Amino acid sequence: METNQTTLHQGRVPIYPRSVSGRYRTIKYIVLLVAYGTYFLLPWFRWERENGPDQTVLLNIIERRFYIFDLTVYAQDIFWLAGFLIIAAFLLFFVTGIAGRVFCGYFCFQTLWTDVFLLIEHIVQGERNARMKLANSAWSMKKVLLMSLTWLLWLLVAFWTGLSFTLYWDDAYNLIYQFFTGAAPFPAYATTLFLTLTTFVMAGLAREQVCTYMCPYARFQGAMFDEDTLIVSYDEPRGERSCGRCKPDKGNKQQQARVEQDIGDCIDCGYCVQVCPVGIDIRNGMQYQCVSCALCIDACNTIMKAINYPTGLIRYTSQRQLSGEKNRVFKLKNIGYGFALLIVTTLLSWSILHRTTTELRIQQIRQPLYVHLSDGSIQNRYMVKVFNKRDEEMSYKLTLQQRPGFSWEFSPSSQLTLPASKSAEIQLVVRADNPQKDGADQSVTVYMTYTENGIEKEISATSSFYFPTQGD
Ligand code: SF4
Ligand code: SF4
Repeated sequence: METNQTTLHQGRVPIYPRSVSGRYRTIKYIVLLVAYGTYFLLPWFRWERENGPDQTVLLNIIERRFYIFDLTVYAQDIFWLAGFLIIAAFLLFFVTGIAGRVFCGYFCFQTLWTDVFLLIEHIVQGERNARMKLANSAWSMKKVLLMSLTWLLWLLVAFWTGLSFTLYWDDAYNLIYQFFTGAAPFPAYATTLFLTLTTFVMAGLAREQVCTYMCPYARFQGAMFDEDTLIVSYDEPRGERSCGRCKPDKGNKQQQARVEQDIGDCIDCGYCVQVCPVGIDIRNGMQYQCVSCALCIDACNTIMKAINYPTGLIRYTSQRQLSGEKNRVFKLKNIGYGFALLIVTTLLSWSILHRTTTELRIQQIRQPLYVHLSDGSIQNRYMVKVFNKRDEEMSYKLTLQQRPGFSWEFSPSSQLTLPASKSAEIQLVVRADNPQKDGADQSVTVYMTYTENGIEKEISATSSFYFPTQGD
């Protein structure tokens, strides 16, 4: 009996990308160097701080404080993280709408780490043909040695990746000593091991499968594409046959002859397919596996130059440009993304630039919302929270905005001293002796004064005072 089976996952066909040089390969190497340099070196650099650790970037989970150059992020500032994530999302939408999958091709961790793992494979085992031959050969001493060396170097890079991540969470010099003397805390070993294994599997073994099957961005980025989005594309009319637009080089007899014979510029050398890290043929049109790494552009340009043809048979272009029209970048969608990005970035920058070292919050206790006292007055209760974000002990004095007919009491006291990086909660009871009617000013403002660097400062926080409505 015949069965008609379909599979959700195509068995992996090993890919052995051939090396290539060119403009985009150079850009990718530069991005790689900057990204690796930043990631691996940052924990080792020192940064002068008045109070606090001297590590450039230190994410101290125990003290719930992140040190990033001159910026100290406290647990209370966690909304900055939300702002940062929103910026990242809008930036991704904005860039993808205009330039397609440049993030995938140049900046994604998966791309960067796979590139390095491929480089190692290339250095140890040789160019594409040698690697394919080795993979298909029977096991021998040479194969064991070459494969072992490749895996060992992969493992070292993966381990250093995992360890470097761990070093961001404590003093790097101290932690690395503890790590190799067996004295580091358990989470340091667990995190390093987890990241070593995931890096090894993702960049060494799974590679393009991560982009094709695991990454959600690869699936939804199509929704941000339109006919003006930049894509890596093969100029089919020029490649497959003469198209009128692609005038042959007058001095190039070979190309002229091909045009006269109605033969396209693609000489079917296959170089663009051989360099592709996801193993596709760009000449078959746009495919979701394409990560826009542009290596096929470099490959084809190399061939075109070698045979004296104009470059750009494969190039960055858009569907609109391919159909002979001009690209439109200033579109409502792109302007909208750009505008949203600008607003969120401005708000986050403003919030960071105007960050305070002390925070005051007031929150009304709503159960019950108010109380009728026997003397006819109305009582509301509040929780006042004070955060000392400084690295030293601070003293504060609380008071309430003076209003006729109102009295108040802070419990346990209106004066408090907080150790460095600590917070405290104080109860506030406010009574209105002469209940007002609806529509009157119903706000309660707490003022807090303190001295910072010899300068007296005052901050305030406001909440509402509830009176019973008619009929209560
Ligand atoms: S088709 Fe070209 S741009 Fe797309 S992944 Fe392959 S080499 Fe990179
Ligand atoms: S590299 Fe250029 S010439 Fe060679 S097969 Fe690809 S498109 Fe054709």
